[in-house]
This record gives sequence, C-alpha cells and structure tokens, in this order.
Amino acid sequence: MDSKTAALPSEEGAAANDPAAPSARGRATSAGPFPVRPPARGEPLTEVAKTEPAAVAELVARARAAQVAWADTPLQDRAERIAKVKQRLLARAEEIATLLHRECGKPIEEAALAEVLPNADLIDYWTASIEELLDASPVDLDPLAYPGKVGRIQRDPRGVVALITPWNYPVAIPLRTIVPALLAGNAVVFKPSEITPRSGALVVSLFDGLLPDGVLSIAQGGSDVGAALVEADVDLVVFTGSVATGREIAVACAARLIPTSLELGGKDSAIVLGDCDLERAARGVVWGAFTNAGQNCASIERVYVERAIADRFIERVVALTGQLRPGVDVGVMTTARQAEIVRRHLEAAVAGGAEILAGGAPSEGSLAFPPTVLRVEREDTPLLQEETFGPILPVLVVNDAEEAVARTNASRFALTTSLWTRGYERAHALARRLRSGVVTINNHGFTGALPAAPWTGAGDSGFGVTSSPHALAELTRPRFLLEDRSRARSELWWYPYTPALRTIAFAMARARGGAGLLGRIGALVELVAALSKRLLGR
Ligand code: NAD
Repeated sequence: MDSKTAALPSEEGAAANDPAAPSARGRATSAGPFPVRPPARGEPLTEVAKTEPAAVAELVARARAAQVAWADTPLQDRAERIAKVKQRLLARAEEIATLLHRECGKPIEEAALAEVLPNADLIDYWTASIEELLDASPVDLDPLAYPGKVGRIQRDPRGVVALITPWNYPVAIPLRTIVPALLAGNAVVFKPSEITPRSGALVVSLFDGLLPDGVLSIAQGGSDVGAALVEADVDLVVFTGSVATGREIAVACAARLIPTSLELGGKDSAIVLGDCDLERAARGVVWGAFTNAGQNCASIERVYVERAIADRFIERVVALTGQLRPGVDVGVMTTARQAEIVRRHLEAAVAGGAEILAGGAPSEGSLAFPPTVLRVEREDTPLLQEETFGPILPVLVVNDAEEAVARTNASRFALTTSLWTRGYERAHALARRLRSGVVTINNHGFTGALPAAPWTGAGDSGFGVTSSPHALAELTRPRFLLEDRSRARSELWWYPYTPALRTIAFAMARARGGAGLLGRIGALVELVAALSKRLLGR
C-alpha cells in the first residue's frame, strides 16, 4: 500500500500499531486538518500524516502505471487475494469497532454490527459473483442481415478510480467501492474524510501485501486534497458526502468529461399507516432515527403517521426514546460542527411552533445530543427542508397515505423511504409512486448493508449506485467486441453506392413495415432483384 505522505511526529508507542501512523518515508510538515480529540471521552487520538495536494498527481500516476498489469492479472487471482481481506477484517473486529468508537463516538456494538460484519458479506458476495458479472455477454445478431458476425459485450475497468468518502461510516462506505472496483481491475486512490483518517488508513491496511504497489493508495487530507484528486488524471470519481461538495465535484468532473458517481444527503421519511404493527413500527422508527446518533444519510428525519393511530404511535415512540441510554444505545455526535447544525434546526423548529416531546438540545458545545422527538405541524422549517444529520425525529400527522406520499416526494432529497403497514399489496402500489431509490416495507435503512441490493437515490440525494451489479456498471465500461468471420469480399453497405443499393434500402424500409401488405410483397420482389444486381457488383 502506498501513502505519499508528509510524516508528523506521533505519540510514542501509541503509533506502533496504528495504521494511520506516519510512514518512515516522509518528514513532518504540518498537522493537517485532522482532529486529535476523540468525540467521546478518552486519550487523544494518534496524529496522522497529511498528503500534500501536490503529491496527489504522483499517487495517481503510480496507480495508472500499476492498473494495467492489475487488470491483466487473472480474475481468479484477483479474487483470491481480495477474499483474504475477509478473514483479516473479522480477526480485527474488536480493533476496528474500538477505533470507530474512539474516532466517531459510535457505540462499539453499532460499529461492529454496521461496519464489520456486513463487510464480510460484501467480500463474499463480490468474490463469489465477480466472474459471472464480468463475463462477456453475447449480443444477438440477425444471421441474414449480418452473416458471419458474432458480437460480445465485455466489461472493462474504468482505470484509476478516485474514491472520496465521508466520516459517518468510515470503514463500510469505502469498502463498498474498493472491493468491487479492485475486483473489476481498477486501481483506486482513496481519500477518507479528514475527520476519520485513522479508519481510512485501517481500511487500506486490510489489503497490505495483497496487492501490487500502487493499485490501492491513500491520500490523507481535507477538501484541498480531495479537489487535487478530482483534478488529477483519474477516470472516475466515486463520491459519498454532502450535497454541496457533490455539486462541486460534479462540476469539476463535467469540465474534465469524466464520469462521477454521487451518493449524497437524505431526508428520509417513514410513512406509518393505520394498519401497521404499531409496536414494530415504533421500534423500527426509533432505531432508524437514532442509530449512529442520526448521522446517517438514511436516518429517518421525518415521520408521517396517519391520524387514526397518531396519538398511540407518538406515545410509544416517546416512551421508547426515553428508554435509550446515552453513550450506550446512542453515542455522541462526531463533530461540533454537525451538533451545531442540529441545534440550529431544532431551535428554528421550536420557534416555529414545534413541540418537544422527548430530549432537547444539550448544553452549548456538547456532543452528547439526546435523542429528541418533536411534534411538528409546519414543513417550512430547516428541520423539514434540509438534511439535519443528527438524533432528531420530527413527527407529522397526516390524513392518509396519499398525503404522506405527496409530502415525502415534495422533498428535494429522495434516498430511502419506509412504509409501515400490513397491507403489502397497497404498499407495493405506494412504493411505485415514491421517488426514493430504496423503499422498505416494515423496515428502514439497513439495506445499505446488503451487497446485492442497489443503494441509490434521486434529486439532491445524488445518482450514484453502491452495491449490486448496478454499481459494477459504474465501475466498468462496456466494450462491444465484434468478430466477423464472413468470407464475402464486401458488405452490402460498402462502396460503391449504386442505384441497386438505393432500391434495396427503400425496398427494405417498405418490407419491414413501411407499407401495407401488398406494398410489402412488392418490396420483397424488388429486393430479390436488386440484391442479385448488388451481388454482381452493381
Ligand atoms: P463532506 O461533503 O463535507 O465531505 C465528504 C468528503 O469530501 C470528505 O472526504 C471531504 O474531505 C471531501 N471534500 C470536501 N470538499 C471537497 C472538494 N471540494 N473536492 C473534493 N473533495 C472534497 O461530507 P461529510 O460531512 O463528510 O459527510 C456527511 C454527508 O455525507 C451527509 O450529507 C450524508 O448524508 C452524506 N452521506 C451520504 C451517503 C449515501 O450513501 N448517500 C452515505 C453516507 C453519507
């Protein structure tokens, strides 16, 4: 693994087993943008070596040089190497969960369940299916029109993939792209979030010694390093993060005419219908809103509940929220900046008439934001319009499912939506009318962990696809390969253009539907005569 970094002095001893510790190759220049104070209590985090933006192009050049041989490595060999990551990942489960707890403030259980175990499934899925998914597929060609020709669609790697990721799931999100991208024969230059550089380095360390030099490398830093990576000689940018950054990256990629895959923010709604299993719906909604302290692109940030069951549902949600143990079930927020956004949204909603039913803002500057439930009437508040990305659950009462679908679709975000009902047939009909890229019935959010299920959105949630063969379609290019075994000296459509060829062209148009029955019969007769002339070279 490569890291073109400028090394920093690190804490003695603590750095010894730290995958993010500065490599011996570089020398200290600056501390970079990396926080060293853990969001939860504890020892300071180890310092991290920053990649200078000027060094990014070199990392990309090395990735490009390595990629060609990597793509030529037999697929089975590539798959065998990457399959080994699963064992390493599982063997380091506790270390990974502990680091995630330290760096992001996640409860250890949540870290292990969301960011370790699903990645084992991910590696199994891709290593088992990649051969079939990359296999060339034949294209049917009419043997009369195209004699002797056989067509195939191959899937070729894009080349060098730039991967830029956020801090909220800093192990799971990068692996979801790194694994299929490498299997498909790409090289990857990965820039983790500056908030979670140690988790990023840990991800890369899982591949240590398995890949040729340059095939997977890490660039550590903030927006300047990310921008340098987008501007470097990469063939695809896979980005997960905020709408604002996604927009900047889309513009930069458009200017360079390179494709980009954007997984952006969310404002997911849960639609709770009168015929739901109320206990399951309440428990599912509470988890969907507060897991990862609400710092989840697919957090439930709005609940639309049908009036008939609204009081009972709200009462149960409030009771369940009251049972959540701070620091055990719900961790601290990861950054002060995000906690400030959440506070602002909450205050504006309350100023607009929303009623806090559980929780409420903590003291200024605290990251321990209590899970908060609000009853909200008005949608014209940032809490309902923008992504909040924190442990706040606004509940809105609606008259019926129609109103809930209309309000859900009115958002500029469209990532996932859950429908809570026992009426599956009706739920399927409602799902077809939702804009979201993922719809779950009687569950929420967890499908991001399913490697065979596409994770995607619309509108401000971006258009990227993670997981499933649809993601592989982004990480590869289709190449059409035609093989012509015809022994004819010339093709019908080759030079010279003659009157017979013109007759053939128009007779074909009539024969293939451009004329009535009699016209078609006449065209066939004309065609036979003109084809014989053409065969004679006229
Ligand atoms: P962010 O946009 O601030 O940063 C994301 C990454 O982009 C970081 O690595 C950052 O350093 C880099 N970056 C910043 N400016 C850049 C630039 N100009 N050029 C290139 N790179 C740049 O987002 P964040 O705060 O880290 O993450 C939270 C956001 O991520 C939320 O909006 C959340 O919804 C979204 N998210 C989406 C999904 C999804 O699957 N749709 C999943 C997780 C998180």
